[in-house]
Amino acid sequence: MKQSQLFVKTQKNAPKDEISLNARLLIRAGFVDKLMAGVYTFLPLGLRVMKKIENIIREEINAIGGQEILMPTLQPKENWQKTGRWDTMDDLYKVKDSSGREMALGPTHEEVVAPLAKLFINSYRDLPVGLYQFQNKFRMELRSKSGLLRGREFLMKDLYSFHISEEDFNNYYEKAKQAYFKIFNRLGLKVYLTFASGGTFSKYSHEFQTITPAGEDTIYICQKCQLAINKEIKNETEKCQDCGGSDFQEEKSIEVGNIFPLKNKFSGPFELTVIDEAGKKQEIIMGCYGIGLGRLMGTVVEIYHDEKGIIWPESVAPFQVHLLDLGAKTEAEKIYQELTDKKIEVLYDDREVSAGEKFADADLIGIPFRAVVSRKSLEKGGVEVKERRTEKTEIWKTEKLIKKLEK
Ligand code: ATP
Ligand code: MG
Repeated sequence: MKQSQLFVKTQKNAPKDEISLNARLLIRAGFVDKLMAGVYTFLPLGLRVMKKIENIIREEINAIGGQEILMPTLQPKENWQKTGRWDTMDDLYKVKDSSGREMALGPTHEEVVAPLAKLFINSYRDLPVGLYQFQNKFRMELRSKSGLLRGREFLMKDLYSFHISEEDFNNYYEKAKQAYFKIFNRLGLKVYLTFASGGTFSKYSHEFQTITPAGEDTIYICQKCQLAINKEIKNETEKCQDCGGSDFQEEKSIEVGNIFPLKNKFSGPFELTVIDEAGKKQEIIMGCYGIGLGRLMGTVVEIYHDEKGIIWPESVAPFQVHLLDLGAKTEAEKIYQELTDKKIEVLYDDREVSAGEKFADADLIGIPFRAVVSRKSLEKGGVEVKERRTEKTEIWKTEKLIKKLEK
């Protein structure tokens, strides 16, 4: 894509009321726009990153047999009354139409997916099944000051699994846990598997926590086995639930995902039952598994940046290479064409602005490779390549650049 045609321009300053680092950088670099606290528009660059995150998650969830669906945002009050959550969920947005009919804007989708599953799951042969979606959630978050980390409207991947037995559930839960590790690993994030309280229905749940000062959570990492416990459940005398260790390191962290045994919490109210192999009626056992995509994008920025801007990991960068024309337009155009023909994702800075401005924007936007085409680089035999995360520059022939970036 030619930068001269890009809808968004970078900005010198972020809005005064935006205090979070991730949002300030993402706004300045032109990835998102803030409509109001906790509500953001994803601009062309930002949407490209979100789509990459989405595809990584999709690949890994498909690999454990997930089937993708898309459920509605607007949900009937009756379903929420059935589970009791119409009155107990503090962050539920409720809307009323002109006829007085009340509805919920989905903060999560158990109230839709459980009755949906009831339509198609009749026998133990229909199990297990995993249904997931990428969908905007709405939550009345009161403290929306962490940029993309805490939206009031935000994109989530939510997966729900259905099982005939605890044993089958445990197997699936373990597979989902491994899929989550793969997802965060591909995004360049080190995560700590963290015990958290499971609410009233289950003894525990697991969170995936990434350490950063921007985090709203506090976790205690066991120095012996590296499993962590969330502050909210941990009592002073507690030992590590896994290895019995008692030496913990306290850290600030972000919950980038979680997995949660639901037991019969939702299959009960929606009468989600099946006939088992012995011909006996059984309540289905459910699990749910969430990941916030915007929160992930914000987390990546919190971890991968410097004073000049963002430093995207290759897996989620909006483009693979930022090609800068510095007074050698004909040659730069040709190289842009060559790279594009090879299906390499290029942002081509063809603008009539100063070299300083181009360099500053390249650093701010944070594409992993920068390739400068100038008279000087051509005399030296190619393009001047620099990785965003290092200071070193090298002259490469176009073929070498293609070889490096071709998938
Ligand atoms: P938190 O404790 O941070 O509020 P949660 O326990 O409410 O999170 P879940 O309801 O389990 O989170 O949602 C699943 C995932 O969705 C979370 O792990 C997180 O990645 C993401 N998420 C939750 N709330 C938000 C939000 N307000 N903005 C962006 N992402 C969110
Ligand atoms: Mg919450």
